[in-house]
Amino acid sequence: MSELLKSRLPNVGTTIFTVMSALANEHQAVNLGQGFPDFPCDTALLNAVSDAMHAGHNQYPPMGGVAALRDAVARKVQALYGRRYDPVSEITITAGATQAILSALLALVHPGDEVIVLEPCYDSYVPGIELASGKVVRVPLTPGSFRPDFSRIAAALSHRTRALMINSPHNPSGTVWSDADMLALQALLAPTNVYLISDEVYEHMVFDGHRHCSAANYPGLAERAFIVSSFGKTYHVTGWKVGYVVAPTALTKEFRKVHQFNVFTVNTPMQYGLAAYMEHADHYLGLPTFYQRKRDLFRAGLAQTKFTLLPSEGSFFQCVQIGNVSALSEADFCRWLTIEIGVTAIPLSAFYVDGFDQGIVRFCFAKEEGTLNRALQRLQQI
Ligand code: PMP
Ligand code: GLN
Repeated sequence: MSELLKSRLPNVGTTIFTVMSALANEHQAVNLGQGFPDFPCDTALLNAVSDAMHAGHNQYPPMGGVAALRDAVARKVQALYGRRYDPVSEITITAGATQAILSALLALVHPGDEVIVLEPCYDSYVPGIELASGKVVRVPLTPGSFRPDFSRIAAALSHRTRALMINSPHNPSGTVWSDADMLALQALLAPTNVYLISDEVYEHMVFDGHRHCSAANYPGLAERAFIVSSFGKTYHVTGWKVGYVVAPTALTKEFRKVHQFNVFTVNTPMQYGLAAYMEHADHYLGLPTFYQRKRDLFRAGLAQTKFTLLPSEGSFFQCVQIGNVSALSEADFCRWLTIEIGVTAIPLSAFYVDGFDQGIVRFCFAKEEGTLNRALQRLQQI
């Protein structure tokens, strides 16, 4: 039978994050590859989830998510971005941002519709579009700076464009879109019927006193946008796989048609736990300072290496050029670095459909200071 199986994703293997984490484990390397914290979440959050389980919140929650958590999301989005989403009809709790993005694509895209991605982009976007039978239209971010190039995005728009996917703060480059960028995008999309999927999972990790510009804050974008975030990133619990999507009622209605047959609901005690935790304090307000410290420590250490540092305005990623260190391809360099030096990074080529290699690798600095220092000692030896 297996020879009859025609792959829906013929070009897809195991994700680079899984591959590099396995290699890091095999060689006991300091894993700065896959993006996840190596420090624990707040005990109060663990207790809140445990309390929810012991209180008997262990059966299916409402399809759109536990009401208290949707209320908490509505409060947060309104407080930060000034737009009120109705928790009943405009907010859905998802199994991480990944499921939110895939479900939004499945809800939006019809066979042959074009969806624009800005490369480099997170590795789930392109397979998601393909699973939705869409046509991927790749537009490069500006080489070197990774800033959006609106003339190139404009040139890629056609009457078949169904959606555009954006991501700020950006994985992998750490670029953060400015107010001017968001206004330019709003003006560009105004005369079109193009939907927006705005991946804002790193919304609380913006540095140097800058602020995150959410699509929620721009009426001309919000009216056409699925805005996606992830509790995993915000509360240091990537393994819980809980996220959310906010979108106007008509969009949410279509989203939930897919969502209910995709996961139906997301695990109940985590939702109650997160809701209770968010009730007591706005913990995310401390994240810029928390992560900026790590970024600054890591950058100061990298300045003592032969790597060339690129900016990191947001997210928990730091990219470096490897040209002064090695002539290997990015992917070979990351394997060599893991096996010979004992530090794991991710090649930027993994974020391009065609594997474009520009001699840049990504490190994740969501790590204890001790972990970062151990990695830096090794990197400084090269
Ligand atoms: N989008 C981006 C840009 C990401 O970096 C990630 C991270 N892992 C995701 C989406 C997926 O998030 P989640 O783990 O909540 O599915
Ligand atoms: N988003 C994380 C990263 O970019 C990894 C998530 C995953 O392993 N799929 O490193």
